[in-house]
Amino acid sequence: MATAELNVYWNEETLKHEAPDGALHLRKPAILDTAESHPDQPERIRNIKRMIEVAFGDTARFESVDCAPRELIETVHDPDYIDWFESFSADGGGRIEDTTTGVNEHSFEAARYAASAAVEATRAALRGEAGVHYALCRPSGHHAQPHCADGFCFFNNAALAAEAAREEAADRVAIVDWDVHHGNGTQEIFYDRDDVLLISLHNDHGAWHPEYHPQEGSLEEVGVGDGEGCTVNVPLPPGTGDEGYEHVFERIVEPVVRAYDPDLLVASAGQDAGVSDPLARNLVTRPGFRTIANRFRELATETADGQYVLIQEGGYQVSHLAFATLGVLEGALDTTVSLEDHGTGDPFDRYGESVGLAEQWTDRAVEHHAANWPLE
Ligand SMILES: [Zn+2]
Repeated sequence: MATAELNVYWNEETLKHEAPDGALHLRKPAILDTAESHPDQPERIRNIKRMIEVAFGDTARFESVDCAPRELIETVHDPDYIDWFESFSADGGGRIEDTTTGVNEHSFEAARYAASAAVEATRAALRGEAGVHYALCRPSGHHAQPHCADGFCFFNNAALAAEAAREEAADRVAIVDWDVHHGNGTQEIFYDRDDVLLISLHNDHGAWHPEYHPQEGSLEEVGVGDGEGCTVNVPLPPGTGDEGYEHVFERIVEPVVRAYDPDLLVASAGQDAGVSDPLARNLVTRPGFRTIANRFRELATETADGQYVLIQEGGYQVSHLAFATLGVLEGALDTTVSLEDHGTGDPFDRYGESVGLAEQWTDRAVEHHAANWPLE
């Protein structure tokens, strides 16, 4: 298939997935007056899509993907969990027990479309098709473990992409997860393996639940057995912004990926490190995301013959997410789009950044991970 400069893999059906109202665990506003909408709104994706259409015009192509077959989902997820999710969704869904994650009658199908988007984007990248390959996934994936949903995620799109890549052509896959939350599901899936490297940059939020989310995202969680060293967690302090992320790329992400020498890079590209995100505490702006993705692209060129894929994860301020994601796509395309006719730059870029704390935390991470990687 002819490719464009920017190839966006998605399916409109994913917009039908909705979780019951209420932020976090505040599903009933007993101590509040008003229940707010669940953070994972379809408007997140509508705004990204509109931004792409306006900013990139004919140089962007949207490919509507088919629903992922069950055998593909089973490369990562337990059959019992898939059965449970399918019937819970078919029965109309609702909140999943004590979690922040919710389901409606369209969620099972939406998650299969999102998985398919991630895998199709990856296959196109591995076929050497020209252009940037971006999976506009909803629901997101990186909190989903083999046996359970978590953190608004049901099927682990990045893990499914990595498995598909391993199946097709790639001996080694490196996942760089810059979503502001720890990629605990991805970590769990590959924790004892050395054929998939995970580097997760995240706020230091720790475990969410002793049973369904026990992973902490700490420095000490480095993998086990063959996988020892292949999980590289980099907790970041609140307030980390553009300069802090660039510092972490330079000091940790780039040297580790170079040493690992992957055949494919996968970005778990969540833009909830954005400056106004309601579910995090970091301060990255559109130019900061541009730098992150541009360095990621350069790293793929240097280590993996330019083969990489971008997979959408979180990002919950429905306006800024679109600007932040524009930054990511600009970085991947090595360009800057003028928005002069639409208001300029990043309308949320108004906070300064203090990088001292981020540098201190990075020093600590470098010291820890130097046991497994050539870091200094
Ligand atoms: Zn997130």
